[in-house]
Amino acid sequence: MGLFQQLFSQYDQYHVPRIETNRFPPEQYYAALKPLAEPFSRQQIGQSVAGRPIYAVTLGTGPLKVLLWSQMHGNESTASRAILDILHFFTYPKNLASFCKGLLEEMTICIVPVLNPDGTARFQRRNALGIDLNRDARAFTAPESQVLRQVVADFAPDFAFNLHDQRRFYNVQGTRKPSTIAFLAPAYNAGEDIDKSRATAMQLIAFLREELEGIIPGQVGLYDDTYTPRAFGDYVQGTRASTILVEAGWEKHDREKEFVRKLNFCLLITAFAAIANRGYNSFFVTDYQRIPMNDERLFDVLIRNVQLNAAGAVYNVDMGISREEISDGETGYYSRGLITDIGDLREWYGFEELDATGLQVKAGKVLPEPVDLKMRAVKKLPEAVATMLGQGYLFCKVKDGFANRYVKLPVNIVNDGFTPPANPEFEQEANFLLTDADGKIKYLVVNGFLWAVGKPWPENANGLNMS
Ligand SMILES: [Zn+2]
Repeated sequence: MGLFQQLFSQYDQYHVPRIETNRFPPEQYYAALKPLAEPFSRQQIGQSVAGRPIYAVTLGTGPLKVLLWSQMHGNESTASRAILDILHFFTYPKNLASFCKGLLEEMTICIVPVLNPDGTARFQRRNALGIDLNRDARAFTAPESQVLRQVVADFAPDFAFNLHDQRRFYNVQGTRKPSTIAFLAPAYNAGEDIDKSRATAMQLIAFLREELEGIIPGQVGLYDDTYTPRAFGDYVQGTRASTILVEAGWEKHDREKEFVRKLNFCLLITAFAAIANRGYNSFFVTDYQRIPMNDERLFDVLIRNVQLNAAGAVYNVDMGISREEISDGETGYYSRGLITDIGDLREWYGFEELDATGLQVKAGKVLPEPVDLKMRAVKKLPEAVATMLGQGYLFCKVKDGFANRYVKLPVNIVNDGFTPPANPEFEQEANFLLTDADGKIKYLVVNGFLWAVGKPWPENANGLNMS
């Protein structure tokens, strides 16, 4: 068994369960980091706009220098969690003790987890000044960017890993497969030249892609390599460190991205080993160039060949639905499902796809009697909702109002005067019925979740409070 496979199968021993959600306060992260960094050197290397500390953890004493930074975008936390696993792994390597010891003699690894703690606290991309740190590697206006520039200057890495998350609607070009991991060896000039250090980054990526193909075949893509002089990857590549961008993407049903976290862990440890033993030398720049590109052609739900009726005429269309995630509290979120495209979507894909040939769109209905959420019948609510949905009621009114912004059931709360739209509207909430020629309801879409009547509800479905 190769190293990647071994790490993958033993991962549960290294996984740090203290943080298992995409969203977490930076303070919670630091509390998890502190004991794990104990055997190594942990230093505060600066602070954010709002005065939050930024740390670096350094492992090993070897001459090869490897730098990692994560979460420069506050809403991209997968690699930060994998870093906890990496520290745990180096502390308790189980049956890989001599391997770890060897690595830490070969290399010094400097890790800056959570470069943007203010963005992390708000689960937003940008820092507290509204600056995208990955467009600040020329002006270095933000204190967080200055911290990273200083680390790059002082540490002078041979290899650098720039760790991000990408939106889940990226697929591998020409396929319905999500781009679960994407790589890039960023350009260091507008000519996109390939010098020795960039070539090495490409070889290492080709090696890692081969390893990943054994676990997620067809789900590794290449990120766009247009030179971006304001981006950190491009800047660090320019210092002659072999720089690798890793984008953690999506895998179906991986709501909190724990599977992609595991892939991040495995690929980073495997990369350290390949750096130490030059394992990437059996791969070539051309192997890198053959990796398929990322594309952005995925919807959460794609309904093909459905009939829309308008002003007495019938139109055949495809409909794409995407669910946006809205934060709820420090660690939770709920979904808002929107119609994000209508028309000819033949070359697009869906995590869920439905061929709706012979089905037509009908408006959902509002339950005539308001629901009393205070009654004891609440316990039977899921049952009642299932019956309700089966009859086409996607909306209900609530006695005495309802404060929460969403419901953990596939039904929407509306006001007295609400009239459901006759047809789904572009960029509006996706709520409608699909009926057959006899008017029988076959499917429902509730807040962007597709439900086949009579089947179990989609996982984690929620409705919205539209009142
Ligand atoms: Zn990012």
